[in-house]
Order: sequence, then structure tokens, then C-alpha cells
Amino acid sequence: VDSNIQYDMDRLQDSFPGFRSKYRLIKRIGEGTFSTVYKAEDLAYDRYDNSWDVDRDSDKWTPPPLKSFSSSDHHQTTRRRKPKYVAIKKIYVTSSPTRILNELELLHDLRDCENVCPLITAFRATDQVVAILPYFRHADFREYFRNMTVPDISIYLRSLFTALASVHRHHILHRDIKPTNFLYDPESRRGVLVDFGLAEREGSECKPCLCHDDYQTRKARLANHNPKSTLGGYPKQDTRPSRRANRAGTRGFRAPEVLFKCTEQTTKIDIWSVGVILLTILSNRFPFFNSADDVEAMIEIATIFGREKMKEAGKLHGCAFETTIPTIGSGGFSFERIILWSTCRSDSEKTLPADEKMAVEFLKRCLDLDPRHRISAEEALEHEFLQMGMG
Ligand code: ADP
Ligand code: MG
Repeated sequence: VDSNIQYDMDRLQDSFPGFRSKYRLIKRIGEGTFSTVYKAEDLAYDRYDNSWDVDRDSDKWTPPPLKSFSSSDHHQTTRRRKPKYVAIKKIYVTSSPTRILNELELLHDLRDCENVCPLITAFRATDQVVAILPYFRHADFREYFRNMTVPDISIYLRSLFTALASVHRHHILHRDIKPTNFLYDPESRRGVLVDFGLAEREGSECKPCLCHDDYQTRKARLANHNPKSTLGGYPKQDTRPSRRANRAGTRGFRAPEVLFKCTEQTTKIDIWSVGVILLTILSNRFPFFNSADDVEAMIEIATIFGREKMKEAGKLHGCAFETTIPTIGSGGFSFERIILWSTCRSDSEKTLPADEKMAVEFLKRCLDLDPRHRISAEEALEHEFLQMGMG
């Protein structure tokens, strides 16, 4: 172990009285913007504690098997095997107390959700907070995404959408869906959603946005607020206050309504991010979007969808979208063509094979510019593409 890492591990063990008798730190497994995560052995692990579950000989914790969705899920008493290995998430002391509390509270609310990594417990010593989660064995996305077959993709996404369906049923937005926050083990084909550091309850910062009005009201309000935008011109003296909206999340995975600073964002922002993951897998490009800021991100999306659809998407949230960038055409490109190009098949093949076509149909439902028409997690689980891996 690197001496700096060892130093940090020693400090962590000394910051909590009794830490060494409870956990044995093994190694550092993750370092993010907001935390460092370690793998540790739970020394109080009781092999015969049957309040958890069977399969005591294996050393890894596994989430309960996939079940199809039923509305009686909130009554289910899932019994999980007590984990022998845990992930210790040391949250940086620079994170605000409200933010830390928010993450722990949401994890507590989601404790019985399938495919969501549960919180075992959490400790605080002065300004240091650590969260204890069951350790989940997983592979690096970059190592497996190129080798996924279409049924593999279906199973991967089914597990991610199962997690999202329960998170969204609790009216919680994850806000940071991306491969490093969905831990997946290609061997057992199981996955768990982690990292609720940016998550929030739906409607928690709500100021009304035009997109929640019906078409007529929106048109009238748009004309009132900004008469020139409906004529397609750019106001010379824009007197409107600048818009503020939650833009938390990761570059490249942000939904268009986040970029357009929609003030009434919904759980549909997570669906867009899953769409970006699917586009990454189908096109064999990671990262697919590579923007440095929100304006570049808008340009990337506009290049795919074209100017006209992008204008419509902006109007929905009261924004005018204007551009003279020559690579942004008026009609954009179809996902099928983009996938054929990026996988170097555009010369030899004119269309995709049937199973990939089905994946593209599903992709279109996830990457719908209009959040109101974008598929929900529950609808996604019913889609034929996510049913294909079940048979
Ligand atoms: P951050 O807020 O710093 O991004 P995360 O909760 O996403 O923190 O954890 C960072 C990384 O630590 C993850 O990408 C993953 O590699 C690893 N990790 C987190 N939780 C677990 C877990 N329960 N089991 C195994 N590894 C984990
Ligand atoms: Mg993370």
C-alpha cells in the first residue's frame, strides 16, 4: 500500500474510538470529489447471525435476486446475508453538514429498495462522518462495456432501472447517474446503485417552470415575458432576472432541461443519464459526450438532435436557442446512423441488426428531449427491450 494511503488509513482508524476492534481496513477502493471509500473487514461479523440470510460461505454480499415489479413491494421483508466485507465511505470534512445529513437520510429511506446499496450504519467523530455499506464486488465499466452483447445490455439496464423505479417511487432524484455510481458485477450480472450525495426529494427547490404548464398557457406566458423570443429574435436588452436552477451532476450526463436551467426538474433527469450510458455502450465510445461546460454540452446534444428540435426543447423552459455553428444542422442525425458510424459499420451495413434496433427504439425513449414524454423507470421495466433478458 502506498505510504500516503497508509497514512490516511491510520488517521481514519485513530479518529474513531474502538474503530480497530470493529473493522480492519484492507485497501482504498475509490476516491471521488466528495469522499474516499475503503474496503474493510467487519470484525464483528457473526457467521451464524441468521437475521440476515443464507449463503454464508461466500465472502461477498449480494443483493436479493431480481423479481418483477409488484406494487406490494413496500411490504416485502428482504433478508440479506450479513456482509463480512464492508465499504467505508469517509465523507470529506469540507462537505456541508446538511449535505451529509441529506445523503444519510435518503439512504435510510431507501433501505429496502432492490438494487440500491443499503446503509448499514454511520458514525461521526467531531467533524468526520463515515458511512458503512455492504461491500459489493464490481468491475470497472471500461473493462466490460465493449464486450456486452445486446441481452447483456438488457440485463444491466434492467437492474439499473429496478433501482431507479424504487428511488423514483420514493419521489427522490438521484441526480448523478453514471457508470461509477452503478456498481455492476458482469459475472453474477447483478448491480447496485450507490452515491446519493447529490440526490434530492422531488420538488424540494421548486419554482414553477413553463414546462409544467399546458401548451396554451405556456404560449401565452412566453409571449408576455419575452415577446421577441416567439418571433425568433434575440432580445437586445434582456431585462429578465438571470435564471438559477440546480445543475448538480456530472458533465456529459446532464439532461437538456438541466442545461436549460429548468426550475422544476423531475425524476426524468435520471432517465436521460441512463440513456447516455446506453448510447455509450451501443456506440462503443466512452465518454460519449466530452464537453468542458454546459454550453458545449448543449452544442453536443444539438448536433445530434438538430437545431429545430433543440429550439422546441428550449422553448419548453422559456429559453431561446440560437446558433450559427455550421456543424449543427437543422434536422440532426438518427441514433442508428450515429451508432453505425461510431462502430465503423457505416460502409458495410446500412441498418442495424434486429436486436440492436430494439435497443435503439428504447434509447430514443430515454433520450427524449421533452422530459414529459421521456419514458419513466416503471414504464422502462415493461418495455420489450428490458423484457428480452428475462426469458
Ligand atoms: P463519491 O461521492 O466520492 O463519488 P461513491 O459513493 O460514488 O462516492 O463511491 C466512490 C467509489 O467507491 C465508487 O465508484 C465505487 O468504486 C466505490 N464504492 C462505493 N460504495 C461501494 C460499495 N458498497 N462496495 C464496493 N465499492 C464501493
Ligand atoms: Mg460517485
